[in-house]
Amino acid sequence: MRIIAIMNQKGGVGKTTTSVNMAAGLAMQGKKVCLVDLDPQGHSSLHLGIEPFGSIPTAYDVFSGFKTLAETRQLVSKNLWVVPSTLDLAATELELVDADNREIVLRQAIQKMAETEPFDYLIMDCPPSLGVLTINALTAATEVIIPLQPHFFALQGLSKLFETTALVRRRLNRELKVSGIVLCLYETGTRLAADVTDDLCAFLNQSDPEAPWSAAKVFQSRIRRNIKLAEAPSYGQSVFDYSSTCPGAKDYAGLVQEIIADEKAEHAPLQRAA
Ligand code: ADP
Ligand code: MG
Repeated sequence: MRIIAIMNQKGGVGKTTTSVNMAAGLAMQGKKVCLVDLDPQGHSSLHLGIEPFGSIPTAYDVFSGFKTLAETRQLVSKNLWVVPSTLDLAATELELVDADNREIVLRQAIQKMAETEPFDYLIMDCPPSLGVLTINALTAATEVIIPLQPHFFALQGLSKLFETTALVRRRLNRELKVSGIVLCLYETGTRLAADVTDDLCAFLNQSDPEAPWSAAKVFQSRIRRNIKLAEAPSYGQSVFDYSSTCPGAKDYAGLVQEIIADEKAEHAPLQRAA
């Protein structure tokens, strides 16, 4: 199972849009996918049409130990399950402060689910902070994907984010690696977008081989700015269901292909050895 944290401590960079459409795109390719909404704003849940009415079980119940992931996830379309979140999840940051195992609650919950029902992908939409929810995601993850808006200050934010992954790798999760950066809200043909992309590639090329991001790449698929991506959430649909031929659907379909190709690349050495 690939356990992917979609992370960036900055808001509005495309984390939720990427989590939802990546999850939906992978499910359409026949992968069994569970999307865990770790943002108390609950945007991924809403994006896929889950209205937090009544007392539906949510990620908060998992962190509180009242429910398992299997008891909270909901099937939203073929192959795609969502563990929803609501504002309750904001309390988790406070409630876990004094807990001894506060950084590993989610990892344990995922391990428990994997024992009985394996998924191909578990995708975590992180909140825009480096608090305990994000640390839980990084501790549980096998890899991190970073949505980034090409922007003059984007690289500065990235170094803080990378430091956090290095810290988690040292203390909590030896397996953690940053697999890639997805450029979102990309303005094709602008000088700024091209310059930031070049700087980013140069930065990654000279990274320390021991760092979690040493093998990170910039995904070839650039997610262009496309209004359909911003409209789809209000219909409770992924971009593929909302407008299957728009540029946003094409860009995310390309990203999904790259992610599936990485799956094969990871297994390639074994195939060669056989
Ligand atoms: P985050 O989860 O990082 O806060 P979102 O994915 O919610 O970011 O994106 C922020 C806003 O930008 C949302 O309103 C979303 O619909 C919109 N958006 C995201 N990506 C695109 C895109 N490629 N083109 C147009 N709008 C986008
Ligand atoms: Mg979000």
